Amino acid sequence: MFYFDPLYLIYALPPMLLGLWAQFRVKAAFNKYSQVRTRTGMSGAEAARRILERGGIPQVTVEATRGMLSDHYDPRHKALRLSEGVYNATSVAAVGVAAHEAGHALQDKTNYFPLQVRSLMVPAVSIGSSIGPILFMAGLFLAGTLGTTLAWAGIILFGSTALFALVTLPVEIDASRRAKALLVSQGIVSPAEMQGVSAVLDAAALTYVAAAAQAVMQLVYFLSIMNRRN
Ligand SMILES: [Zn+2]
Repeated sequence: MFYFDPLYLIYALPPMLLGLWAQFRVKAAFNKYSQVRTRTGMSGAEAARRILERGGIPQVTVEATRGMLSDHYDPRHKALRLSEGVYNATSVAAVGVAAHEAGHALQDKTNYFPLQVRSLMVPAVSIGSSIGPILFMAGLFLAGTLGTTLAWAGIILFGSTALFALVTLPVEIDASRRAKALLVSQGIVSPAEMQGVSAVLDAAALTYVAAAAQAVMQLVYFLSIMNRRN
């Protein structure tokens, strides 16, 4: 029913377009700077290893994983997983992505507060993002106090998703900030090569901004429906 409400489009379309544009920019920047070799000849895996060792966390493993841009840091297993186009690649894009993931490992080591909050929120968010909208819709169909209560419960549950997306922002931006500084200070990338690193990491940051905007606007839309209901 939401997709036939013109008001929904007003809330949902701008952040959705921003998200599509950001994804397009990530792919374009990654493809472009995957063709540019690092002057040091270091691969993504080698760059990550150097950052982890000099950062005092040599026990964190660096593993190859399948998929395109599926790179991530796994805090439970203290493992940094790099995709095929990053692990062995000796490109500016590859070391940029690898350094960003190493940045998450360093956040974990220093108990970076937003990362801790984000990890604690994961169970609530997985419930909230699926059950929240269902409870909300069910609440709308029911009349009276029960319906209203149910709808508000759905909004609060879904609200955890929006909060999660917002907490993700400082985590991602900080990891990229660390990556940029470490790549230069540890001699992995020359200042001249930083333009490519920034193009990839800044486009990636924009995808998280778009995701947060989508979640917040969805929440605002739910609230506007409650406002009209009253
Ligand atoms: Zn990240």
